[in-house]
Amino acid sequence: MTKRRLVIAIDGPAASGKSTTARLAAEQLGYMHIDTGAMYRAVTLKVLRAGLSSDDSAAIAKMLSGTRVGLTRSESGLAVFLDGEDVTSAIRTPAVTRAVSAVSSQKAVREAMVREQRAMGRDGGIVLEGRDIGTVVFPKADLKFFMVAGIRSRAQRRHKELAERGEKIPLEHLEREIADRDSRDASRAESPLRRAEDAIEIDTSDLTIEQQVDLVVRIAKEKIEKESAG
Ligand code: C5P
Repeated sequence: MTKRRLVIAIDGPAASGKSTTARLAAEQLGYMHIDTGAMYRAVTLKVLRAGLSSDDSAAIAKMLSGTRVGLTRSESGLAVFLDGEDVTSAIRTPAVTRAVSAVSSQKAVREAMVREQRAMGRDGGIVLEGRDIGTVVFPKADLKFFMVAGIRSRAQRRHKELAERGEKIPLEHLEREIADRDSRDASRAESPLRRAEDAIEIDTSDLTIEQQVDLVVRIAKEKIEKESAG
């Protein structure tokens, strides 16, 4: 009997460890990894480049009809394409980070991204991470996780990541930026950041990446084994 390939949702606030955990868990399970935040960032980059205001819903909706966002696996992780251009680094700039919550709160943006994400996950064998995967994109996902961590550890993680790329940003500044983004993501009308009732919560404050990945992979494998036995 062929084993069923699951849809796994990982949601949580900014810098809670979702991306790394999702990428490595997907690798170990032989699944596809979809960083939905990267998709929202790519759309935001296009909005900024076009000089549109992030609350101009009509112009953004029009822009979306000619927009293609793609994700492909590369040697160094996930590569992100916007209309065929590799924007993997361009979507991580402070300007995009500042504007992404406002652009993502637009209904037209959410509808377009959710449509794409559902199509990608149709056949299972996928780990999707974001803010609304377990609540909106795949409310019937086979497994849902909600990752949380204290603001200090999240800011420290981001600080380390940025330092490795040669960017020195004060810790307090990052704490403020993360807290602001969380509060905008959690208070918007369209698909706010929220834990699905049936999600397993993982507090990553004191866990290593390896422990986070092991937990997700173990629970997924248990589910797969149980189903193929039953
Ligand atoms: O995951 P990351 O921090 O890169 O996400 C960037 C932003 O994209 C979030 O702050 C949020 O505004 C938006 N986002 C979203 N829904 C998702 C994933 C990300 O609104 N599923």
